[in-house]
Amino acid sequence: MKILKFGGTSVGSVKNMSLVKDIINTSEKKIVVLSAMSGTTNTLVAVNTAIKNNEIAVAESIISSLSDNYLKVTEQLYQKAEYKELAINYITKVIMQLQSLATKPTSNHTEYQVLAQGELLSTHLFYYFLKEHQINAALLPALDFMRLDHFGEPDNFYIKKNLSQILDSKNEVEIYITQGFITRDYMGEISNLQRGGSDYTATIIGAALDVEEVQIWTDIDGFHNNDPRFVANTHTISHLSFEEAAELAYFGAKILHPQTVIPVRNKNIPVRLKNTMQPEAPGTLIDSSIHGEGIKAIAAKDGITAIKIKSARMLLAHGFLKKVFDIFDYYQTPIDMITTSEIAVSLTIDNPTHLESICHELEKIAAIEIETNRSIVCLVGHNIVNHHETPNLFQILQDVNVRMISYGGSNNNISLLINTNDKLETLRKLNRYVFEPAEVF
Ligand code: ADP
Ligand code: ASP
Ligand code: MG
Repeated sequence: MKILKFGGTSVGSVKNMSLVKDIINTSEKKIVVLSAMSGTTNTLVAVNTAIKNNEIAVAESIISSLSDNYLKVTEQLYQKAEYKELAINYITKVIMQLQSLATKPTSNHTEYQVLAQGELLSTHLFYYFLKEHQINAALLPALDFMRLDHFGEPDNFYIKKNLSQILDSKNEVEIYITQGFITRDYMGEISNLQRGGSDYTATIIGAALDVEEVQIWTDIDGFHNNDPRFVANTHTISHLSFEEAAELAYFGAKILHPQTVIPVRNKNIPVRLKNTMQPEAPGTLIDSSIHGEGIKAIAAKDGITAIKIKSARMLLAHGFLKKVFDIFDYYQTPIDMITTSEIAVSLTIDNPTHLESICHELEKIAAIEIETNRSIVCLVGHNIVNHHETPNLFQILQDVNVRMISYGGSNNNISLLINTNDKLETLRKLNRYVFEPAEVF
């Protein structure tokens, strides 16, 4: 069994849905995880914002143009009236639900319900499309087996048990279609795995079923050595270890949801990144083996807050750092980077939800300064700390104001904290210093 996940662009047009059909239409048993059609989740976020702002007419108008777009897709996707009708009925049901949610007071619960409709729409439309082409497929409703525990982590025991039961009951089927991103929480209410979460669904399911391989099909030919949205002349990396991929995903490489690798790493289930629009390209294989040394890729993560904690008297005094860490622990706020000096410790967080309370507590033991609008640029590769070409990256110090450096925390990662305004220049210059050094020196 394999898991094949297709992202928003891959199911974002009738033409691309046809490509997906051809890719999955083989006699191997597989679970196909689909994202919402590209743009839909953003539209549903806009619906939620309008409802929250009490702009019901705005919400209704967004819902109505969403309906028009899906009805247009239906016109092109199906040949037979029977399947067109099935699709139109489903779209109408979803639109009526959205309209009814728009008139209710908002809560997390209603917002998650709104967001869930994107994946429900794409999977239903695609399932009817396969049926029209007489492909032996079945829908697996993700809300019947995906569940989070009290800590918001996948409830692996529940998922394995329920998914296996459902699969056993549909044993004659070859292609199972399910929704990425959406799940239930520990109370059984609809929730999700955060933006981009369909990748995570694929590996959670893959680990639950101990599959042979998880494939993530997207709109680019695998993992590139730098962010192709900001840097020209990037290239595909043919192989990444789980550790390298996990670091890059965590530090902002958009091609993978930050937690994608976690479920499959310990089980040693390979993850293959492939391009739906160019299926013959080899893409990237992520597994436990290590290929090459030195800096392999660069990624950047925005929305970072730096906190500088200064204590003239007692930084190195016994117990000071423990007190600092206890405060972050109490507010369940992970720390990404940390550096220290004789009188100060600086650290960064990416989730400022409890920033005010954290600062309030820290001020009881030290003076603090906050810096917002920071980005972490992360350079990743096996044993980079010891590689002879790694020092090239420090040329960047002459170009941009580097606020913090984390070097040596792991052999595979070097992180720089910069102003977000300097991100493009940093990524581009690092690309030259690290990947095109012949031109520079
Ligand atoms: P999907 O909708 O298929 O999940 P995403 O938009 O989430 O696709 O991820 C693919 C996009 O990630 C690419 O189109 C590319 O612009 C962006 N991206 C950012 N960093 C990288 C990288 N290092 N390698 C490849 N793609 C990257
Ligand atoms: N549709 C969701 C999003 O846009 C999940 C995903 O695409 O992976 O974030
Ligand atoms: Mg994605």
